[in-house]
Amino acid sequence: MKRILVTGGAGFIGSHLCERLVDEGNDVICLDNFYTGRKENVWHLIGKPNFEIVRHDVCQPYWAEIDEIYNLACPASPIHYQLDPIQTTKTSFFGAYYMLGLAKRVKCKILQASTSEVYGDPAVHPQPEPYWGHVNPIGVRSCYDEGKRCAETLFIDYYRQHNVRIKIIRIFNTYGPRMAKNDGRVVSNLIIQALRGEPITIYGDGSQTRSFQYITDLVDGMIRMMASGDDFTGPVNIGNPGEFTILELAEKIIAMTASKSRIEFRPLPEDDPKTRRPDITLAKERLGWEPKVSLEEGLKETIAYFKTVV
Ligand code: NAD
Ligand code: UDP
Repeated sequence: MKRILVTGGAGFIGSHLCERLVDEGNDVICLDNFYTGRKENVWHLIGKPNFEIVRHDVCQPYWAEIDEIYNLACPASPIHYQLDPIQTTKTSFFGAYYMLGLAKRVKCKILQASTSEVYGDPAVHPQPEPYWGHVNPIGVRSCYDEGKRCAETLFIDYYRQHNVRIKIIRIFNTYGPRMAKNDGRVVSNLIIQALRGEPITIYGDGSQTRSFQYITDLVDGMIRMMASGDDFTGPVNIGNPGEFTILELAEKIIAMTASKSRIEFRPLPEDDPKTRRPDITLAKERLGWEPKVSLEEGLKETIAYFKTVV
């Protein structure tokens, strides 16, 4: 049994990760300040002897005897991370700094949930890990993008300077049950609108693309990365290379929900990336990982979930 700390464990991704780690018999500490996460996400785990929940802000030091850390604490949707941008940058930086400090003291492995946002509005397509990105340092998305880039820098320097056993994964757009209803991300927004018969909001002309990964594939990739040899630090892309325009996604969701909603075009948010698709050659080679769940299969599960909550 491993003792595992998951920061941001009560969020969308964190709750699925905690669930899998608990089911595998690990002793899991879910640390969260409930900024965007909810106790309901881990309700079903509370009371299990190998699960505990700690209310704590990663901008403050934390101490525990542990074998592994998954550092996920950070608001992830544009609406939430832009609400208090200074706090977002602080969470990225101080969260990484204090968790790396803890990893150094207890000599444990630590995995950083980085993001495809480090590539910004990419000039290279699809995005391989060696690509440095195309990021605006002073835009409305910068608090998140630059916060995550700086966290990667801290991780790699703790590895070089202090031999901390680090792992960096760059997560591409992920969706599934327990996404927050109010976080404004495209999959949850469009499903909720379709189920309620409200207008489907497409920002811009809907020709921008994203590659959507189902949550179970991501959790599998995270666990494989943590289990990989200490010589493999990453960064490694974890995402589904299936690329869709936002308009295609909307049409799929309308068809799958048999919705009468009509599409409504809205202004494109500032610095909205035009394309995004992971090159997952490295993940295949080093982790033997590739996504298994198609967009249709994943949407089916996600729609079924949202039917129970909207
Ligand atoms: P989420 O908002 O559901 O989860 C983030 C969790 O972190 C929440 O439970 C929140 O309360 C917690 N948190 C925020 N600030 C905190 C702080 N200062 N101290 C303690 N806890 C704090 O988002 P998510 O989609 O589950 O994302 C989890 C991680 O994965 C984030 O680091 C995000 O950047 C990364 N990521 C997500 C995606 C995606 O598509 N969902 C893509 C790339 C990267
Ligand atoms: N988007 C949209 N309608 C919505 C929400 C989002 O057209 O109701 C677009 C958004 O402008 C972006 C894409 O969908 O081009 C993905 O947005 P999301 O916030 O999910 O993720 P990110 O932009 O961080 O990839």
